[in-house]
Amino acid sequence: MTNSKGCQADFLEDGVSGNDVELRIWGARGSLPCPGPSTVRYGGNTSCVEVRMGGRLVILDGGSGIRGLSAKMRHEAPIEADVLLSHYHLDHIMGLPFFSAAFKRENTLRFRGARLDTNITLRQILAKMMSPPLFPVPIEVYQATTSFEEFDPGDSFELPGGIRVETRGLNHPGGACGYRLSFGGIVIAYVTDTEHVPGEDSESALALMQGADAVIYDATYTDEEFETYRGWGHSTWREANRLAELAGAETMILFHHDPTHDDAVMDRIAVEAAEDRAKTIVAREGLILTW
Ligand SMILES: [Zn+2]
Ligand SMILES: [Zn+2]
Repeated sequence: MTNSKGCQADFLEDGVSGNDVELRIWGARGSLPCPGPSTVRYGGNTSCVEVRMGGRLVILDGGSGIRGLSAKMRHEAPIEADVLLSHYHLDHIMGLPFFSAAFKRENTLRFRGARLDTNITLRQILAKMMSPPLFPVPIEVYQATTSFEEFDPGDSFELPGGIRVETRGLNHPGGACGYRLSFGGIVIAYVTDTEHVPGEDSESALALMQGADAVIYDATYTDEEFETYRGWGHSTWREANRLAELAGAETMILFHHDPTHDDAVMDRIAVEAAEDRAKTIVAREGLILTW
């Protein structure tokens, strides 16, 4: 698929294209991994997205999908990466104890996350998850050079290589933070987990998505499900499309699929969402977009 701005979407097994900007989905699920015969096509791993900008690696969230990314990077060394976390619910960090790049001395990993509704630090949160009896080995076994930096939602900062990052707080129990990455005129927005308020235009979501080339958005629920799960902190594909139009965004990538949505349900959502808005696609493991 090629759109008017030259974005290409593909499903590849091994995908370093050499292009300036590349995005690859390693986990598109929310809440809980759900592998099995009914989810093979869209995948069962939780949130993890690989973004390459000018050769620099940015990892969005460390859900169970990061295991596949780790396997792909097995022979890459040294690795230097920025890991940006949307928030600290397990589905977004559960892969980090198995993030093999963190166990290699020659690698450099910078973890960043927003100060949300908690009084412990990012490092303390990850250390807590990686401590007995929850997990047998402590975060101190990370051999890579690591840093753990916090910021306030709304802050902007620059990553090495000239990648500009803007952030906004999202509407989610306990808080969450969305990202807008800009490099070489290409903008990728990562907007999960967030609940919309019907009839209101989310200023935060729109600011992140404004004119973006690709938006990854929390489309956990159908409209019908949304009514049942008000307050759970998630949105819908219909709202994704509405916001994408308002923001003048190009490709909308529906993300954070509900674990109960098997491949047949996701196929239906893909058709309905694309009928509603042609430039909307559904995230699946192995989806690659390049610019
Ligand atoms: Zn989530
Ligand atoms: Zn969450």
